[in-house]
Amino acid sequence: MSSYKHIRVPEGEKLEVGVNGALKIPQKPIIAFIEGDGTGPDIWRASRMIFDAAVQHCYGGERSIAWMEVFAGEKANALMGTYLPDETVEAIREYRVAIKGPLTTPVGGGFRSLNVTLRQTLDLFACVRPVRWFEGVPSPVREPQNVDMVIFRENTEDVYSGLELEAGTPQAQEFIRFAKEKFNWNIRPDSGIGVKPISASGSKRLIRAAIRYALQHNRKSVTLVHKGNIMKYTEGAFRKYGYELVREEFSDKAVGWEDCNGNPNGKLLVKDAIADIFLQQILTRPKEFDVIATMNLNGDYISDALAAQVGGIGIAPGANINYETGAAVFEATHGTAPKYANLDKVNPSSVVLSGVMMFEHIGWNEVADAILNALVRTFQAKIVTYDFARLMDGAKEVRCSEFAQAVVERLK
Ligand code: NAP
Repeated sequence: MSSYKHIRVPEGEKLEVGVNGALKIPQKPIIAFIEGDGTGPDIWRASRMIFDAAVQHCYGGERSIAWMEVFAGEKANALMGTYLPDETVEAIREYRVAIKGPLTTPVGGGFRSLNVTLRQTLDLFACVRPVRWFEGVPSPVREPQNVDMVIFRENTEDVYSGLELEAGTPQAQEFIRFAKEKFNWNIRPDSGIGVKPISASGSKRLIRAAIRYALQHNRKSVTLVHKGNIMKYTEGAFRKYGYELVREEFSDKAVGWEDCNGNPNGKLLVKDAIADIFLQQILTRPKEFDVIATMNLNGDYISDALAAQVGGIGIAPGANINYETGAAVFEATHGTAPKYANLDKVNPSSVVLSGVMMFEHIGWNEVADAILNALVRTFQAKIVTYDFARLMDGAKEVRCSEFAQAVVERLK
């Protein structure tokens, strides 16, 4: 018997972690989903239709997903009087893998973003965003096909840790006095303060995940992106920890630029780039970059800058993963687009591609490949939702559900 009050646990099995830390996947895994607010229900309905059809197409009924709805956002508030019920967090922790549509972040009242709360509570330390171009998708650059990168953004540290003091408060003044006394730092008395913690353990677990991913997917390089020339003991240390980790744990399969002068001799190359130059080079020489490992703030900027090169965040997928426990939340990277809610209009591709990542995470690679192929063929046929139709010549504009139907037809 489940102890949840509102969550109905379907028939199926839990994902467990094996002795080697890898996920053990049953034939009928229970996977949690959050429908999302605004356009979320339209997008989720369309995405789920594609997921179920692809699983059926690949395994003919031998395997299936037992979807378990967990509540967050406006639906949770209406049902339980809170935007993120404890039982939702507990259920995701217990069942390990979840996929979600976009959620509203209510403004004011000291309300923290539901996404940030989920990431921190479940210690989902890696935000993973693959960025590639799909033929037919409108892009603002001349050669979007040269962009094929996977960003690993550290999710729990950096100036995003929430360690902030407001200017003029007794706490900020106390901190400023302390800094003068102990370190002889001169901080203007009317300053607000933010702290930027970057730890060896936090950096290494993120970079380890990026290197393992690069090795598993036959990628050529991992680039550590930092501003270590200016912030030596935080961003500079991140770079140092990365090169240390390669020597400590991956010397048989990978090599740092420092140790091979740029010639990896068949091994995975781990290199580094300063963030400002990097932002130029992803535009001018995108082919030189592959897997990217970086800290929280850089990762936030880089994810959106790169997504824009391949057609915008409207279709960018994302995942927040703890590679040590296997816990993961896959999500749309765009918001709830409330003006289009319940119009069956918007593009579901961001959640569909997040699903592709989810199927890869649970090792159902046939399903991931089948969905990806069908999606690409749908774009190639120029069957698209309004957002792409307005940027393409000769497109056939369809509704959200019709787009899903077109993808399902191309699974065959
Ligand atoms: P938004 O919901 O992403 O919408 C901004 C614009 O992006 C839309 O007006 C639409 O552009 C386009 N768009 C978004 N999703 C689309 C889709 N699936 N298909 C096609 N076009 C799409 O951003 P927002 O209006 O700033 O935020 C609304 C709410 O979402 C806020 O409460 C915010 O906190 C929340 N939010 C949630 C997440 C998340 O859960 N991951 C992320 C960001 C924001 P056009 O009008 O030009 O067609």
